[in-house]
Amino acid sequence: MKINVARTAGFCFGVRRAIKIALVEAAKGPTVYMLGEIVHNEHVVADINQSGISVAGKMEAIPKAGTILLRAHGSTPRIYQEAAAQGLHLVDATCPMVLEIHEKAKALEISGYKVVIIGDHGHDEVLGIAGQLKSSLVFATPGEAREHRAFYRKLGVVVQSTQDIENVRAIVFELILKAAEIRFVNTICKPTKDHQEEIRTLPLENDVMIIVGSFTSANTVRLTGISRSIKQCTYQVQSAADLQIEWFRGAKSVGVSAGASTPDYIIQGVVERISRIGDEIEMLKGERVPLW
Ligand code: SF4
Repeated sequence: MKINVARTAGFCFGVRRAIKIALVEAAKGPTVYMLGEIVHNEHVVADINQSGISVAGKMEAIPKAGTILLRAHGSTPRIYQEAAAQGLHLVDATCPMVLEIHEKAKALEISGYKVVIIGDHGHDEVLGIAGQLKSSLVFATPGEAREHRAFYRKLGVVVQSTQDIENVRAIVFELILKAAEIRFVNTICKPTKDHQEEIRTLPLENDVMIIVGSFTSANTVRLTGISRSIKQCTYQVQSAADLQIEWFRGAKSVGVSAGASTPDYIIQGVVERISRIGDEIEMLKGERVPLW
């Protein structure tokens, strides 16, 4: 059984960078605090906690003069202000590509556009973008855009970095009817674009698809959805322990991809287990071969 691992599987540039910054800070001394998990993955969170980084439920829970680490998907200006007011040492691990979205959204607003953010409601990145603006609209689905009963002179659209381009296309199509002028800035980041491109071809080339990552990771769940729409035999697993031998019977090739928050060693563990499952299936076949 051939195993084809996606070139883009696993940590994106921004997550890799944020984890590196977090570990360097943690090694310097007293506890580093984050407002929420660094990425949506149980294994990474456990590793990070062991290195002396804690998750604080709210800013007030961080001791005076403590260190606060801002995560890759960005924060609202209010967080920076509150950290300064509390005298906290701030370490900013916001992905440069998210900061670019902030700048583009602000530029649209300054130029008189009503800003639309295409993204998931309540997601930290979307809240961070909205926090840069006086006002904004957030649409997660084409249906939401369709049902929005208003007409604007100028609409400026930016996109959460990890959105699926097909969903974005459908929402923009709806927005065309809502404004006299629309300016669309495609802010899906390059690692996400590469990831999505690969997840649209890998299922065509393999009999079974395995997507590795947490069910709390929107990005991983999105990859699973795209893959399953192309290849019904798509399964999402959190680690090697979730793999089931039945999924692979009769398969000649298996494609493996992973969300941007899945660590390399978990992907590696899954690949090794699939390889052993392939050997087990071959052995079982051999046992059934008549000996005469
Ligand atoms: S998904 Fe893109 S924008 Fe978000 S952290 Fe990763 S590289 Fe940065």
